[in-house]
Amino acid sequence: MTTILSTWKEPGEVAIRAAWDKRQSDGGLIDTLEAGLAAAELDPNLIMIGLGSLPNSEGDLELDASIMRGSDLMCGAVCAVRNIVPVISVARKVMEDTPHVMLAGDQARRYAIEKGFEPRQTLTAQVINRWEEWCESPERIKVYEHTHSDTVTMLGLTNGKMAAASSTSGLPFKQPGRVGDSPIFGAGIYADDEIGAAGATGNGEELWKAVASFRAVEFMRQGLPPQQACEAVVQQMLRRQAKAQELPCVVFAMNRDGEVGAATTKDTFDLWICRDGDMQMQSFSA
Ligand code: ASP
Repeated sequence: MTTILSTWKEPGEVAIRAAWDKRQSDGGLIDTLEAGLAAAELDPNLIMIGLGSLPNSEGDLELDASIMRGSDLMCGAVCAVRNIVPVISVARKVMEDTPHVMLAGDQARRYAIEKGFEPRQTLTAQVINRWEEWCESPERIKVYEHTHSDTVTMLGLTNGKMAAASSTSGLPFKQPGRVGDSPIFGAGIYADDEIGAAGATGNGEELWKAVASFRAVEFMRQGLPPQQACEAVVQQMLRRQAKAQELPCVVFAMNRDGEVGAATTKDTFDLWICRDGDMQMQSFSA
């Protein structure tokens, strides 16, 4: 049995279908999650991940991605990368071909180019228009934290092996150089075959402060099922982090037995679940 999870209705569906296609053509778990996220990144109609997603406040698109293998805790990430897609594939190269965990900014882009990625224009006319409208709007003077961005975070389980991965353009119109939880191990993703895997989406600052994904895995290590583990993370965030009450912060998890859970501090969250090709979307409310 292979179980794959993917966040948010629209980008999550693109990702989970591509991931399952890869799995069926004998892809390993890492190939499967990479294929899912790469498909979502390369779809210019998804304006929150990869090509054609919303830029930072200066109109530059900076992408973050991460991937982690639960068998040996190997992981790789990139953050604030411009003009390269799919960045999930660069994160995988960091994991497999370097002794490091993360490469950042222009140096990550240089590394990608050395590895054969072609730099390209990642903005589309549609998002340039959105950015120009934002520049003219009163929204501009507000703090960016009240929006969130349909980050695609994925978890996978097959034959007792687990993996987690995430890709995002971060918060729309963010401050240049801002990095959220998604490429940070323990915050945006975590996977440990001994226990399970977890991922996050929503306000990256709050999720990072909570080390939300690692915390969910640790709650499962203490014996909680995934649903209760995620609820415990959210309860703790609501109790300790005033802003988590105002900003949607989601954590979701899967244990070694394929049980799934999710919780959010606010609003509703959609999670795609694929069990050997049977796909369903489940909604979770605060
Ligand atoms: N967690 C992402 C970030 O803060 C955004 C999101 O998931 O909506 O960069």
